[in-house]
Amino acid sequence: MQNNLNDILNKPQLSKEDVVTLISLRKSDDKALVFEKAAEIRKETIGNKIYLRGLVEYSNICRKNCFYCGIRASNTNVDRYELNEEEVLMCAQHAYDHGYGSFVLQSGERISKNFVKKIGDILKAIKKLSDGKLGITLSCGEQTKETYQYWYNCGAHRYLLRFESSDSDLYYTIHPQDKLHQFGNRMLALKHLKEVGYQVGSGMMIGLPGQNFINLADDLMLLQKLDIDMVGMGPYIEHAETPLYQFKKNLIPKSDRLELALLTIAVLRILMKDINIATATALDSLSSDGREKAIKAGANILMPNLTPVSYRENYFLYDNKPYLTEADELIEKLNNSPELADFDICLNDWGDSKHFQKRV
Ligand code: SAH
Ligand code: SF4
Repeated sequence: MQNNLNDILNKPQLSKEDVVTLISLRKSDDKALVFEKAAEIRKETIGNKIYLRGLVEYSNICRKNCFYCGIRASNTNVDRYELNEEEVLMCAQHAYDHGYGSFVLQSGERISKNFVKKIGDILKAIKKLSDGKLGITLSCGEQTKETYQYWYNCGAHRYLLRFESSDSDLYYTIHPQDKLHQFGNRMLALKHLKEVGYQVGSGMMIGLPGQNFINLADDLMLLQKLDIDMVGMGPYIEHAETPLYQFKKNLIPKSDRLELALLTIAVLRILMKDINIATATALDSLSSDGREKAIKAGANILMPNLTPVSYRENYFLYDNKPYLTEADELIEKLNNSPELADFDICLNDWGDSKHFQKRV
């Protein structure tokens, strides 16, 4: 197996079959070779650097009903909130003052004129307070191309929109099959984001009920086909107040899900050498050092949570979300981690994806 494996790892381009072979090593000691290769590629291509994005969960009001998500519209147990501009600006100021380099505004999906304008106003205000220096990523779901363009003009330059699963059958087992949740619309939105000029991020959940290695390999190949600049992918974590919870018994155990997520990150680093890969918060709900492990596996972006603490318990996308970790504490923890002794956390740097720089 080892010879065959070394052949695969040294190929200039992996096929889907290769990717399946690598992901299937989850239970084998040979997977150490995959992690070694990913570490080597990362060091050579983008260096052992970690870039920061301060994350603000702007609002848990959402028009959608994704079957996996705790803040889906039909969950009546959620106290809905929306930050005001002043609250967001305080978080942005914190990010700016602490040298985070960039900022992510994430929200439930809404499309009203009022919402679109509020986000636009916030973008302009963040640019103003940071003298244009704080980079801004948005993650506010599917919008029209006009809205994407408007927000881009207001100052956003990166956008995260996961496709969640590349397999349309699986997509419709985790989303209602209706007008609001069309796989085709998600693909169109990703196309529009690229046309507008954003650095585009996408990704999927790992360990979904009914997902197999071939689905995961297809997800990775789709990221490559879309020529994506950044990836946010993380383990699926069940939430008791969601329809997908009924399949809890079919899930792989949490420790295996963490291993699978880490291996998938390493394989992605081998497949797409110069992209940005974020460490999903969901990793930390599987293990307290999940995000550190993800960095070792090949990720290079850390998104410490800056949402005001009083709102965080209302943004439970999944159970067991580590909502009390303070942004600066997390950074200090990683700075002092012996596991990450060879890594530098970069301050005052947008940390743009090298892939994007080459693409444009
Ligand atoms: N509404 C926006 C952004 C907020 S949701 C959107 O959907 O794009 C951000 C991400 O949280 C989603 O892309 C989804 O992949 C992830 N998420 C939601 N529920 C989850 C769960 N139960 N386990 C893991 N990730 C989840
Ligand atoms: Fe809304 Fe995003 Fe959750 Fe779907 S995943 S219900 S769009 S917040």
